Amino acid sequence: MMPETGRAVAELLSELDRLKAADLPTRGENVTAYIYDSGRPEVREAAERAYLAMLEINSLDPTAFPSTVALERSVVATVAARLGGDAATPGIFTSGGTESIMLAVKAARDARPDIAVPRMVVPVTAHAAFHKAGAYLRVAVDSIPVDPTTFRADPPAMATACTPDTILVVASAPSYAHGVVDPVPEIAALAAERDIPCHVDACVGGWLLPWLADAGAEIPAFDLSVPGVTSISCDLHKFGYAPKGASVVLFRDAALRMRAYYACAGWPGYPVVNTTVQSSKGAGPLAGAWATLQALGAEGYRELGREALAATRRLVAGIAEIDGLEVLGTPQATLVAIGSTTLDLFALADHSRSLGFFLQPQMAVDGLPASVHVTLTGVSARGVDRMLTVLAEAADKVRDAGPAVPSAELVALVGRLDLAGLDDPTFASLLPAVGWDPTATGDPAMAAINNLLNALPPRERELIIKRFMSVLYSPHLDA
Ligand SMILES: *Cc1c(COP(=O)(O)O)cnc(C)c1O
Repeated sequence: MMPETGRAVAELLSELDRLKAADLPTRGENVTAYIYDSGRPEVREAAERAYLAMLEINSLDPTAFPSTVALERSVVATVAARLGGDAATPGIFTSGGTESIMLAVKAARDARPDIAVPRMVVPVTAHAAFHKAGAYLRVAVDSIPVDPTTFRADPPAMATACTPDTILVVASAPSYAHGVVDPVPEIAALAAERDIPCHVDACVGGWLLPWLADAGAEIPAFDLSVPGVTSISCDLHKFGYAPKGASVVLFRDAALRMRAYYACAGWPGYPVVNTTVQSSKGAGPLAGAWATLQALGAEGYRELGREALAATRRLVAGIAEIDGLEVLGTPQATLVAIGSTTLDLFALADHSRSLGFFLQPQMAVDGLPASVHVTLTGVSARGVDRMLTVLAEAADKVRDAGPAVPSAELVALVGRLDLAGLDDPTFASLLPAVGWDPTATGDPAMAAINNLLNALPPRERELIIKRFMSVLYSPHLDA
């Protein structure tokens, strides 16, 4: 509740500290997802102070705040120079990977106003952001199976899926789930042959793969230098180590970028022209990204890349030694998917979390197995041996229980539910049945609910997790 009289800043900040106590760590070698820590206090300070310096600037109107144009041009040119472009490559600074992808899909869609029901062809491993863009922009998604052992996209199958209504073909460099790079040259070529734009989702890899290549890793061609690639997304709030709210989408030419823009002069207020989904927007994330790039420099990224690569190699080798665990595919970046045919991976994740390492659950889909995900960054190296000890210990703990089988009662219970018709209170009353105690403190026990979700078709999972969100943001749980 808002107080009648304002509170003092010290009190507010200590309340924030209290609220953050149960959050995952944001710094150091125990960070394995969501957060990218450069481990360098001077870089963090540069980002923080630049962010605050631009806190009150509104990027809505670049003629009113020309500083935002200078910063955005600098950031876009910096990214383009490492992703096969040059100083003339058009780009847009966005709030994140999802927004970059939405703008790429919008540009491709608006290039073909003649198509009544536009479609895009994506590998099944493509990020959910393409499905979200499809839902928001009414572009149908044709999701194509990948090679079941390498987890890389299958160009001939994607070629077959292209129709006269296909407005975009997609490749990932790398995919988030398995960290493998799709065969971009083949995919871009099949798109170009059909005059279809090709977007490379390098959200997680765009500011990682070039530095790994510098460090001697074998990185296949994936950027704008590949013929047929027409746009590419690269998040700076991932391996750019910038504060959240920072991504860049680059376009082959200005005509395509123009289709990502939006303008509206048909209302009585100021004429609106937006490069992004947001209209009014703080310049903090832009300044934070610019400052991070400038403070780290190429040598800094190269060093962080070297360390992340070494950490990944140690982790992959170590997992091979743990009975029951395996690495899915051959990770080409520093993202690792851990699979198992004999152990309950989600129980493993719960144990690992209680021992200090968060493993991100990934569900089975379209014949691809479930897994748990680890992203390794420049500060991961000093924690890898401890992570392997924790994984081995967690694997021992779950070994006796064998592979996960959600209880028949639970599956039957869910089968009887009208998921679409359920309301918040009814849903909340069912949560204890999957081991979810809203009043519990400490690390949540997620294995039961994750195994249940994993056993359900994706559409049913979606209904459940949306309802879960509704309950989470409703007052019922506090009652
Ligand atoms: C993170 C990610 C996205 C989405 O990015 P957000 O910044 O979370 O919106 C898209 N694609 C890939 C490959 C990613 O790793």
